[in-house]
Amino acid sequence: MNQSDFQQQSEITDDLPAIDCDACQSALDPESQQAVSFLLLDQLRIPVLSCDDHLEQFSSVCGLTSDDTATLLHHHPAGGISCPGCRFASYSAAQSIVPVQDGAIVPIACPEHQSKIIQRFQIGLQTHQQLTSSLGTTTSSFL
Ligand SMILES: [Zn+2]
Ligand SMILES: [Zn+2]
Repeated sequence: MNQSDFQQQSEITDDLPAIDCDACQSALDPESQQAVSFLLLDQLRIPVLSCDDHLEQFSSVCGLTSDDTATLLHHHPAGGISCPGCRFASYSAAQSIVPVQDGAIVPIACPEHQSKIIQRFQIGLQTHQQLTSSLGTTTSSFL
């Protein structure tokens, strides 16, 4: 179970994705003083950086992978972050940028938790696509 080293070179990290969202761009600017938000999902407490819109989208997609809803905090979670790697992670070029529609988020976490939250997001996206495609083929009774 020592595969996290290999997962660092996933497609996501290869190139900087094009970020069309100005708010994301300035939030991800290392020069900016954008406050870090915190995504709470099950046992995960992940510091994340993005604009408000794309944070919302990211957390709702991640929430699809859980029975609980993902919670976004704009302040430190009560009790703090238990993982020392996450607590002392800082924003740098080493962090993965995760494209979210026309924006992006950066999990400012240790490599283990970075890959965990990215995994959740990717599973959530698949779930979301299945939901929307099944809605497309059947007459929606959701609304
Ligand atoms: Zn954005
Ligand atoms: Zn961690």
